Amino acid sequence: MKVNVNENLIQSRLNKETVIVIDPGHGGENKGADYSGLVEKSINMKTANAMYEELSKYENVKVYLSHTDIEFDMSLKERAEYAKSVNADYLISLHYNASEDHSLYGCEAWIPSIGSYYVKGYQLADNIINEITGLGINSKGVKTRIGDDGDEYYGIIRECENRGITSIIVEHCYLDNRNDSRYVKNDAGFENFGKADALGLAKFLGLKSNVLGVDYSTHQNVSVIEPQTRIYQDSTPPEIMSVEVTKFDKDKAVLEFSIQAKDNDTYINYYSYSLDGGKNFTELLLWDTYAGETLNIGVGNISEDIINNGIELVVRVYNMYDVRAESEMIDVYKLYGIENESQPMKEETSTENFSNDESSNDEVSNNSDGENETKEFIEEESFEEIYEETFKEINTETSASKDVEGGNKDSVIYKGSVIIIIGIILAVILAVIFKKGKTTK
Ligand SMILES: [Zn+2]
Repeated sequence: MKVNVNENLIQSRLNKETVIVIDPGHGGENKGADYSGLVEKSINMKTANAMYEELSKYENVKVYLSHTDIEFDMSLKERAEYAKSVNADYLISLHYNASEDHSLYGCEAWIPSIGSYYVKGYQLADNIINEITGLGINSKGVKTRIGDDGDEYYGIIRECENRGITSIIVEHCYLDNRNDSRYVKNDAGFENFGKADALGLAKFLGLKSNVLGVDYSTHQNVSVIEPQTRIYQDSTPPEIMSVEVTKFDKDKAVLEFSIQAKDNDTYINYYSYSLDGGKNFTELLLWDTYAGETLNIGVGNISEDIINNGIELVVRVYNMYDVRAESEMIDVYKLYGIENESQPMKEETSTENFSNDESSNDEVSNNSDGENETKEFIEEESFEEIYEETFKEINTETSASKDVEGGNKDSVIYKGSVIIIIGIILAVILAVIFKKGKTTK
């Protein structure tokens, strides 16, 4: 392990020209994300052109576009080969995002996972992401991703790495989420992203521009330790997750609760909650990083429907890789000893519900002992114990569904014993008949 020196500073001081390939993602039949009139291949190109134009104002940098026609369907290998043919130092692939349920928002960058590729990719991406968040976009982080074969998951990063070129993928924002879509309303929006990319790159390389009257030669990049083996993605949900209801006022329709959550590998990025036992969740809300591990939530104006049906609180927290942990359900009415007039049958009719209520009750009584105990608990117990405890909590849902499977097994055993009993009765009858037959003879 060695700490990287800022080679780029040295490079620009020696007046060595750095070669950049800007790669507008997708093209031709491969359109990329396509949402409500926004087609990724064409807005990637607009952003790439703006980045190209802006970067061309700096000295000591030679800039190329991998292609300029959005109808040109260029393979990832061809893009990397093109970068090699112009002796590129860096390839920056520009993209916009979309998610299946349109829930995600924010920018993110994917970088190589090993060696100096990782170090340079991290520093470059960190500078670009900083400029994009400056526009008002939330950061989902600078990340690596390894495929099942143990190599880089993203083709462009893999193909470039194979040719000795550091490349990164910049996902500027989500086209299909209202938190981000206001930034991609028109060409000016796409160009702002391109300018942000250029500025991030200029800072990373320590470039100067006479035209712009700027000099980033003393800019310091974040210091990154060079990894000798691949840095893997975080595929585990947040390790710590607990919920405590702190206040409930049925008449005022107000609920207050606190969430304690931590991810050992990345950060908590979003949270959401449900008041109806997990049927409906809020949109993804940003975890305030300044809040640290504990977030206090106040919910007002709870709908009459939910107040009438009773409040069943379920919380989800998401890490930077969008992997989530879900809390146990807390029956708030039960916790506050409130009779739920509208559904008196509920507890009596279903034994399954009864056992769920029991488990959430356990959690509530743990939590009601207070935050102090939770804190002591973390200090006293070893990490593995805490992890196991938390893991148990996170998996309650799964074990609840296992219980159902167990129930099915019970019914199989029950059916089996009925068949055996019928068999025995038949055997006895046959034996009696047989005996009778014998005696009559
Ligand atoms: Zn894309």
